[in-house]
Amino acid sequence: MRKKIVAGNWKMNKNLREGANLAKELKAAMAGKTVNCEVVVCPPFIHLALMSIIFEDKTIKVGAQNCADKPSGAYTGEVSAAMLASTEAQYVILGHSERRAYYGETNAILKEKVKLALENKLTPIFCIGEVLEEREADRQNEVVKTQIEEGLFDLSADDFGKIVLAYEPVWAIGTGKTATSEQAQEMHAYIRQILAEKYGETVANETSILYGGSCNAGNAKELFSNPDVDGGLIGGASLKVDTFLPIVEAF
Ligand code: PEP
Repeated sequence: MRKKIVAGNWKMNKNLREGANLAKELKAAMAGKTVNCEVVVCPPFIHLALMSIIFEDKTIKVGAQNCADKPSGAYTGEVSAAMLASTEAQYVILGHSERRAYYGETNAILKEKVKLALENKLTPIFCIGEVLEEREADRQNEVVKTQIEEGLFDLSADDFGKIVLAYEPVWAIGTGKTATSEQAQEMHAYIRQILAEKYGETVANETSILYGGSCNAGNAKELFSNPDVDGGLIGGASLKVDTFLPIVEAF
């Protein structure tokens, strides 16, 4: 059965002390609770090593928000996949719409990042999703298909089996405007169909596809009840235990 995952994307929030406090609070709040999904926290780079210590019992997994598209060398300001792995991070978000829009990350660049992440035994959470104009023009399927084809379809079936996808309609990210349960299910089923055509039913059925975009305590249960929605990538609501934990508990 495919993994259910709730991953928090802290984006560029929380200094070192604030991050440590939030992590410890979350760990304490989850202690003794039965959680029916994998919980992942994706803080800024500077937190990663410390998070791996705070979460050393691995009840909560640690992920990064990005990695370099080069293995090492003279790339000032970059952080390699190997460096992330050395912090004991297990996941890395790749292709978030904010990276695509503000930092010019193309599918070709993302393809390199995915390869390096996999070589370093990190699980990519690969983000895809259309902007509002594309949804209004009913082009969301072709946009998402191209992102998947160009970013991921040179992977072997074996490597593709190590990928987690996150469908994040850009118009829903940080806007408070969530996709309806029907819109999410429809897209997730379409994505699974594309995967089945390329890699076969087994790989398609085993790939976790998360939903992201203004997911919160009030809508998580309904979104996650869809057969093809395997969890969530959570931005704003992951910054407080009170708003994140109910999403984790929606499973
Ligand atoms: C995100 O940035 O991945 C996200 C889903 O953000 P939010 O939950 O704030 O919409």
